[in-house]
Amino acid sequence: MATLRFSAIQLAQSRKPIEIFEPKKRSEIFGKNVFNENTMRQYLTTNAFDGVMSSILNGKKIDRKIADQVAASMKEWALSKGVTHYTHWFQPLTGATAEKHDAFFETIGGGMAIEKFGGSQLVQQEPDASSFPHGGIRNTFEARGYTAWDPTSPAYIYGTTLCIPTIFVSYTGEALDYKTPLLRALHAIDDAATAVCKYFDKNVKKVTSSLGWEQEYFLIDKALAASRPDITITGRTLLGHSPAKGQQLDDHYFGSIPSRAFSFMRDLETECMYLGIPVKTRHNEVAPNQFELAPIYEEANLAVDHNSLLMDIMGRVAMRHDFKVLLHEKPFAGVNGSGKHNNWSLSTDTGINLLGPGKTPMSNLQFLTFFINTIKAVYKNEELLRAAIASASNDHRLGANEAPPAIMSIFIGEQLTNVLEELEGVTKGKLSPEEKTDLKLNVVGKIPDVLLDNTDRNRTSPFAFTGNKFEFRAVGSTANCANPMTVLNTIVAKQLKDFKIEVDALIEDKDLKKDEAIFNVLREYIKSSRNILFEGNGYGVEWEKEAKKRGLSNNKTTPEALKAKVSKKSIEIFEEMNVMSKKETEARYEIEMEDYTMRIQIESRVLGDIAGNHVVPTAVRYQNMLIKNVTGLKEIFGSDFEKHAKEQIKLIKGISAHIEAIHEKVDAMIDARKKANKLDNIETKAKEYCKNVKPFLDAIRYHCDKLELMVDDEIWPLTKYRELLFIR
Ligand code: ADP
Ligand code: MG
Repeated sequence: MATLRFSAIQLAQSRKPIEIFEPKKRSEIFGKNVFNENTMRQYLTTNAFDGVMSSILNGKKIDRKIADQVAASMKEWALSKGVTHYTHWFQPLTGATAEKHDAFFETIGGGMAIEKFGGSQLVQQEPDASSFPHGGIRNTFEARGYTAWDPTSPAYIYGTTLCIPTIFVSYTGEALDYKTPLLRALHAIDDAATAVCKYFDKNVKKVTSSLGWEQEYFLIDKALAASRPDITITGRTLLGHSPAKGQQLDDHYFGSIPSRAFSFMRDLETECMYLGIPVKTRHNEVAPNQFELAPIYEEANLAVDHNSLLMDIMGRVAMRHDFKVLLHEKPFAGVNGSGKHNNWSLSTDTGINLLGPGKTPMSNLQFLTFFINTIKAVYKNEELLRAAIASASNDHRLGANEAPPAIMSIFIGEQLTNVLEELEGVTKGKLSPEEKTDLKLNVVGKIPDVLLDNTDRNRTSPFAFTGNKFEFRAVGSTANCANPMTVLNTIVAKQLKDFKIEVDALIEDKDLKKDEAIFNVLREYIKSSRNILFEGNGYGVEWEKEAKKRGLSNNKTTPEALKAKVSKKSIEIFEEMNVMSKKETEARYEIEMEDYTMRIQIESRVLGDIAGNHVVPTAVRYQNMLIKNVTGLKEIFGSDFEKHAKEQIKLIKGISAHIEAIHEKVDAMIDARKKANKLDNIETKAKEYCKNVKPFLDAIRYHCDKLELMVDDEIWPLTKYRELLFIR
């Protein structure tokens, strides 16, 4: 009897939704556990408050005296809420968040103790970080890493711990985390975009990049998840036959939320509220057991922190509800995977969304400037953008005809397509007064401030303009958004910088008026970026062919895709925009290639183990049952037995064939792994794993899944898809 599977199913079926505390009004608890502007006003002296605010708004350094005051106030606030410990909270390149808790508590001799927390503990820590990934940046003899306070993301309390968001850098100042390059990219886009904004409004002093992510995930009963070694170790199922009823009926999407999941969501949302994560939307997704959570968008750095924090809290809240959250991009074959759309825009300190059409021709020209520059930036750096979302798990989604393809393209909708076409026809050089008026009134002036067809957007596009923002849809559900956001903001910053140089040159050298110069440059950009615009079906094979003709990349696997990250062009952009040095970029490349290799290696080991220790023995057991049956039939029917045992004999032979295939393939996979492991070079090793180890995962799975269909359900040890995928 496969007891683990059946007792898990029994347990899962007996569960009831957990009663939770839910506040009447969310607004009343929003940000209650955050040392935000409001709290700071209450706890800080005016001097300290101004110091922190000017650091947040203008990037001014906070001096030690002010840091001491802030630390003292933070401590007072935290202690009043029952907090005992503090931690620097950071996002190393492992993909998980990191924290090391220290008590405020300190002894002062004479058997006495106090609670202590000073500016130096707030500002900087030196965690023993030698085992975080660094891609060769730190030598072991200089293994120190520093975490440094990031005042632009407020401290918060989780449980009884004060958490201080920090960056993580090496002793020599190189970034060892996701946040540092992001902050640098946000700085770059601020500089470049503000300079361009000045063409339209001299009062603009700052441009911020905003991010609204949409997190998709699966919920699986905790006991069922624990009954599957593949889910436990790799976060996805490595085998399992698809159920008779999957998502064919599309009855889960936006359907009523199962009650246990609903209770989990409300509990999670309450926690988010206390932490100031402005979650707003929840719904069922396409696949059974799949859901989505989305917040109101925020400044990108904060939004990234909030998403990282959310992914962490989700797991903890899920445990309380006897669930396991699967963030993996493809937990179940044949069932929709999960992504994390990154909605991105830019806005000014004067309150203008730069990617939203305005009400006047001038504001529309500003909109078009940012819109077209973004298109150009994406076109010029499409491979780098693809690299920014590459991971072993996202490879299952991209190009698998359910998510955007691995080809980057932009959807802009019919109205804007028409506008771009008209702009493309603008005369080169100086414009006649009539032309100018016509352009302003009939082209630029006619862009409606609500773009209707963009709300009904093309779901197959990896990068779609959705009315007042771009939606980068190819990001994976496990991703740290910092990576794609760093790249997107960097390439747009670089593009805006180049744009400004070109426009200024036309004004100065060719004696053009400002808007004439802008029209001229934009016209050339439209012409030269046409190839990235695609309104059709991104899932179709025709698009693959067409994209190839257009010279767009189609890097289907992570090792192929990541190459673009360390191309000469990419390294130069990161360097020029002061986002990453060559060394930092190369380190990241190594870390990501290594991560890829390790994930395939682990999956391959786990599958080998399950196939050898669960599947084959069970198949043999069932085969023995059949053999016994056949021998019995022979006893009863004598030489006539074959007539009665035909099907059984067929099954016996079939099982033997699958067992043989599994053994042969597992052996070959182990050989391929051994061969790959001998390679020293990280790049060739990752490629070897991709080309010669990964294919075995599907090949072995095929035979295991066939056996699942043949073997007596009573003795099959692994919880099946139909059992994993249905909750109430
Ligand atoms: P949906 O895409 O599900 O139809 P919306 O288009 O309203 O929903 O918004 C999706 C996400 O886009 C939300 O997380 C929202 O906060 C975010 N969003 C809206 N405006 C912006 C913006 N200007 N910048 C970044 N994100 C935005
Ligand atoms: Mg969306």
